[in-house]
Amino acid sequence: KQRASTDFINATVTMGTPTSPEKELLPRLHLINEQKEFSDDLLTFINEKWGLKDTGFNYNLAAIFGSQSTGKSTLLNRLFGTNFDEMSESSRQQTTKGIWISKGKDMKVLIMDVEGTDGRERGEDQDFERKSALFSLATSEVLIVNMWEHQVGLYNGANMGLLKTVFEVNLQLFGGNRGKEKTLLFFVIRDHVGSTPLANLSNTLRSDLERIWGGLSKPEGLEDCKITEYFDFTFTTLPHKLLQPDMFETEVSQLRSRFSDSSDPNYVFQPQYQRRVPADGLHIYAKGIWEKIMTNKDLDLPTQQELLAQFRCDEIANVAFSAFVEAIKDFKRPIESGHLVENLGPRMKEIRDTTIKSFDKDASRYHSDVYKRKRSEVLTKANSMLESFFVGQLKNLHKKAVLLFSGQLQEALKVEGTEFAGTAAAAHKDAVGFFLTGAKAIKLDDTDWEYEEEIYQLENDLKELSATQKEKEITKMQATLEKHLKKELDEPIKLVLDQPGPGMWGRVVTIYMRAVDNTEKLLQKKAKSFDLKDEELEQLVTKLKRQGWILTTKKVHNESVDGLMIYKLINRFEERFQRDERGLPRVWKPTDDIDTPFRNARDEAIALIPLYAHIDNTDPATGTKLTLESTDDFDFDQSLIVISESRQQELANQLRRKADATFVEAKRSVVATQAK
Ligand code: GDP
Ligand code: MG
Repeated sequence: KQRASTDFINATVTMGTPTSPEKELLPRLHLINEQKEFSDDLLTFINEKWGLKDTGFNYNLAAIFGSQSTGKSTLLNRLFGTNFDEMSESSRQQTTKGIWISKGKDMKVLIMDVEGTDGRERGEDQDFERKSALFSLATSEVLIVNMWEHQVGLYNGANMGLLKTVFEVNLQLFGGNRGKEKTLLFFVIRDHVGSTPLANLSNTLRSDLERIWGGLSKPEGLEDCKITEYFDFTFTTLPHKLLQPDMFETEVSQLRSRFSDSSDPNYVFQPQYQRRVPADGLHIYAKGIWEKIMTNKDLDLPTQQELLAQFRCDEIANVAFSAFVEAIKDFKRPIESGHLVENLGPRMKEIRDTTIKSFDKDASRYHSDVYKRKRSEVLTKANSMLESFFVGQLKNLHKKAVLLFSGQLQEALKVEGTEFAGTAAAAHKDAVGFFLTGAKAIKLDDTDWEYEEEIYQLENDLKELSATQKEKEITKMQATLEKHLKKELDEPIKLVLDQPGPGMWGRVVTIYMRAVDNTEKLLQKKAKSFDLKDEELEQLVTKLKRQGWILTTKKVHNESVDGLMIYKLINRFEERFQRDERGLPRVWKPTDDIDTPFRNARDEAIALIPLYAHIDNTDPATGTKLTLESTDDFDFDQSLIVISESRQQELANQLRRKADATFVEAKRSVVATQAK
């Protein structure tokens, strides 16, 4: 931490004009430095340099307030014999900023001189001006208010605006001492030409002060307090130092006695102004007041420069923004209608950078804190407007990625034998890669834009699509397998059923087993493509077995429809009745026994009906019953029934009629041969 300067020796070197060399130089202290730090050396100066040790209450404290270069230091040095820096006419060098304190020569008066830049002209450091003015007001018994005659009646020129703030905060911080501790405001009107009498000037100032006081926002409980409860006023004038040097010196020395001679009828340091702070406690008291002032937020009003910066930066930002809005207009429509905007990232960046640059160009000359704040506001606003394009483009990238995925997968699957799992994984990778590249390209720096959630969403969607596609492909594969099954089943079953007999169902079951076996092998081969889990594969096998059985029973039913069935029965009957053991057609002779072969043939044919009616599901290879699990739309037991009871009866009747007719005809043919 930089300490307040105590370099009074150096100060004597840079000191201005009129301190006569024979005068003993009084040490002065940089009480509050440019960094607004309070010196640790006040007590040392009071005790050792100024000889005020053990002085108790027997000393006075005054300060001066007024615009820069109004001859404050010049006046103080003459009134108190101090050596505050005066700005010399020749060199016009800047004096060191801050509050300086010194002791009056041959008097127990401490004097504070305030040095600063001219806040109103430079637009800066009103903060320091306000704080140091308030400090002077709060600590001093007498505050000399220094001003040019021509400043009287000018609200701003006379520091009245500053006084308003200082009065207000003073009231707020120290207003509790109402009527107890008063301060004398000693107005010194400089370069008084003489045409306007002091009485008029002081009236103007008084009414200005009353007006200011009336307009103050006062703390609770002090709403009705009067300015006179806190302040007394004295007004005086001084002639022009350069134009009337002799008069000036005379009047200054007269003024001097009002500050130094307690027997002077106009002596300023009256008991009612006493702060009752012993000299050895002043350093603590004054430091306390300074800290209170420093932590008071009401004093941190924006400076003129800040206000100006806010106003101008807003204007500049608005101009930059209207160009920005114009430039980004082109993105809106294509993005909203689902298109991908080419080069969106670089284009957004360029537009944003141009906006910032155009803002910087004019705004960077203004108050740097305000400029920086506004700049980040501009950036944030631009980013938030661009973010909707970012989000929109992400959505479109997502759509496009999904299309790419589907397209790539479909295209690959057109080729016979394409392996599904690997192809889908590759398409997934490509689609996500496409999305990522596109997303990265539109994420601008200096933003908190993210697309993690979108990637997650995309991956989910792709997985879902892939699963749907996989199901379709599996269904396709099942159709192929079914065709295969059908081929292995239909023809052999027909052949078996055309030759009905006891071993018939055993052969059908064997055909079924073989067909399922062969097809399962094919399934195992084809299923590799899908990278299936064991239970998925198991399910497919179960389905295949059921499908095979359904095809088997369907074929059986088709072979057992009414017409076919009766044909088969009659066929069997005729085979047995009308052909001999060698298969040759029989010609009945009158001696032949027609009745017995007829009955045998008929009964054998009729015996086929119950055989056909119900599938015997015994597997001849193992002797065990073949069973399949029933489902909602598949009843295994039901599937074994080929011909219902009533149809069996019907078939038997039909067969009988047909057989009877054949029998009658055979009988007739014998009679006919006999007749020849
Ligand atoms: P401060 O900044 O208020 O302390 O002013 P200084 O005391 O440093 O003086 C600033 C300039 O004004 C110097 O050039 C002085 O010579 C000049 N000056 C001092 N007193 C008077 C005065 O009564 N009238 C005029 N016109 N100039 C003065
Ligand atoms: Mg000065």
